[in-house]
Amino acid sequence: MYKTIQHKVTSPLVNMGPIKLRQPLPTKGIENVDPFLLLHHYGPYVISEFNNPFDLGPHPHRGFEPITLLFKGEQLHRDSLGNEMVVKAGDVQWTTAGCGIIHSEGPTKEFVKKGGELEGIQLWLNLPAKDKMMPPNYQHLEEKQIPNLFSDDKKVQLNIIAGNQNEEFGLIKTQTEVNVFTAAVDKGGEMEINIPESHQSLVYLLNGKVIVNKLEVLEKGESQMITFKQEGNTIHFEAKTTSTLLILSGEPIHEKIAQYGPYVMNTQTEILEAMRDYEQGKMGYLY
Ligand code: MN
Repeated sequence: MYKTIQHKVTSPLVNMGPIKLRQPLPTKGIENVDPFLLLHHYGPYVISEFNNPFDLGPHPHRGFEPITLLFKGEQLHRDSLGNEMVVKAGDVQWTTAGCGIIHSEGPTKEFVKKGGELEGIQLWLNLPAKDKMMPPNYQHLEEKQIPNLFSDDKKVQLNIIAGNQNEEFGLIKTQTEVNVFTAAVDKGGEMEINIPESHQSLVYLLNGKVIVNKLEVLEKGESQMITFKQEGNTIHFEAKTTSTLLILSGEPIHEKIAQYGPYVMNTQTEILEAMRDYEQGKMGYLY
């Protein structure tokens, strides 16, 4: 049985400092899709030496997992654990902030010089209270390491980043049960995805046009995200034109959320502690 559609929303442009990006979550009427707290879709920007709008300097995080899925371009990730990794289109960087990490990301110098399009997704996945102060960790997957499966007619490629679909398992280690999939779909391609009844879930359209559950249309520039109620155990999509999708589901954490800036904790006191710990250098250093 298809999962029941709960909300269908646009992906409005918002300002994050000087950066303009799309933010379908949180949005009017949807605070989060527990355990997913925030979804940013940045680009495609045409990057050059004269236009480099997405370059985030060192900043801290605590209490959740910031995840980047890069679709176009090339970025450099650096963090206070000593990681320095080039992230290419199709790659995934999965940061577990835990008790604290400082990281920076932006297009590589070489990419800025050469020029080209940059596009990606940033996703905030909450951690349960018991894991918020775990040691920070960084997982990196190159595109070629990511397991995938195809529809019979090969028009749909589903990439399994975390969780599983049928017998394909993602390589990312997660603290709670989540599925993170992307799909590249040619015109006419369709697929039915299995999602447990206990999961909250959503489908986000990066580009193209699809019909979800043979009922609702998602189209770039119009509605781009559908969230589902827990009841039901499949999600179906069919592409009307070449499309790119992000499909997320997870076991809800059901805990109180205190969120401020780059920190996601359970209480205001813990937020104040995070601010103090960062100022005192307890989240490490990144030069
Ligand atoms: Mn960050």
